[in-house]
Amino acid sequence: MTPHKASRDNAYDVLVIGAGAAGSATAWQLASRGHRVCLLERFEPGHRRGSSHGRSRLLRLTYPDPLYVGMAAEALRMWHRFESETGAGLITRVGAVDGGGADRLDRAAAALTAEGAAFERLTEAEAAVRWPQLRLPGDVLFHPDASRVDPDATLPALQRQAERFGCDIRHSTPVTALEIDADRARAHTPSGTFTAPVAVVTVGPWTSRLLDHVVKLPALTVTQEQVFHLPPRDPSAVWPAFSFQAEDGAIVYGMPTADEGVKVAEHLGGHEVTPDGRDGVVDADARRRVLDFAAERLPGVEPVVSSETTCLYTNTADEDFLLDRVGPLVIGTACSGHGFKFTPLLGRMLADLAVGEADPNPRFRLGIPAM
Ligand SMILES: Cc1cc2nc3c(=O)[nH]c(=O)nc-3n(C[C@H](O)[C@H](O)[C@H](O)COP(=O)(O)OP(=O)(O)OC[C@H]3O[C@@H](n4cnc5c(N)ncnc54)[C@H](O)[C@@H]3O)c2cc1C
Repeated sequence: MTPHKASRDNAYDVLVIGAGAAGSATAWQLASRGHRVCLLERFEPGHRRGSSHGRSRLLRLTYPDPLYVGMAAEALRMWHRFESETGAGLITRVGAVDGGGADRLDRAAAALTAEGAAFERLTEAEAAVRWPQLRLPGDVLFHPDASRVDPDATLPALQRQAERFGCDIRHSTPVTALEIDADRARAHTPSGTFTAPVAVVTVGPWTSRLLDHVVKLPALTVTQEQVFHLPPRDPSAVWPAFSFQAEDGAIVYGMPTADEGVKVAEHLGGHEVTPDGRDGVVDADARRRVLDFAAERLPGVEPVVSSETTCLYTNTADEDFLLDRVGPLVIGTACSGHGFKFTPLLGRMLADLAVGEADPNPRFRLGIPAM
């Protein structure tokens, strides 16, 4: 494949705006199909201001919704293919234990069965014998193929592959305004205007900010979430990932990491922020809640925090993604704190929308007609 690289007049087949997980995967997919692609990213490589940084995300199939189970199964196959094509170390099988919310577990078990995915249902006593480092009340589901994926390795791997197929990647190039007409998108940046018949917008927490005057969006809230790492009492213990839903609906999840101990975090425990106004300061109440959870439910960790960080969720009301096309615009937002596992599949779905090879899935439409 001959690299396309920079176009003299900044005109491409497709612009991809935002080089987080979704945008990097979309650029890789489009470039590998032979399209002339420009990937525009506001910040420098490896920045920590969005949603796709850090060393660990959990890929599990245990959704109560068959749509996401099927998507996660396909994404898992794509992760393995991408890893073997690139030789990058991206994915580690750890298995995952899900507890709490009996109805949620029943529905997840039904969806896993329909998908043909392996899982076991264990009683509380059986689980306590197999994983003495966990103390989860009630039955649990164990899903052995659940895996940890590494964002800090994934984004460079996707971008290297995209470049190999000729993608022009411009870091530190913020799109300050986006204009669309019937058949063209124009992205204005401090280093010039970039044009293409279609632009894929994958700016995560900045979606409302960039698109507010371009297309009518459903309500999106951005929350600053916190992640904690706790040292295991026995460094040789083999940990599964875990997720537990309390009776009040609150979810705490975690997983073994490569070198940061056991990650423990609340799902949707953060407060609302703006992506440029967020302070990046870890919430002391969230730290206390996570340490209380560890003291009660994780006998295998020291109840102290060895490292902590913040990250942004972009949330829709129903936690579904937005993957839609409006004229020359494709909008791709992997929302609500569960998008990373789908990265290669999201790239494929957004690339299909960009080149007209698929119609939007009604579940992921904006739900509001274009302005
Ligand atoms: C703490 C935490 C834990 C998570 N855990 C999991 C998990 O275990 N499993 C899972 O599946 N998912 C998880 N997620 C969710 C997952 O990480 C996100 O769904 C995913 O990273 C979103 O990627 P994105 O590309 O949509 O957004 P982002 O990564 O935020 O990328 C958007 C990019 O657009 C760029 N940008 C913004 N504005 C502009 C502009 N005007 N011009 C050019 N570029 C622009 C930004 O700089 C950024 O690089 C977690 C998220 C967080 C925060």
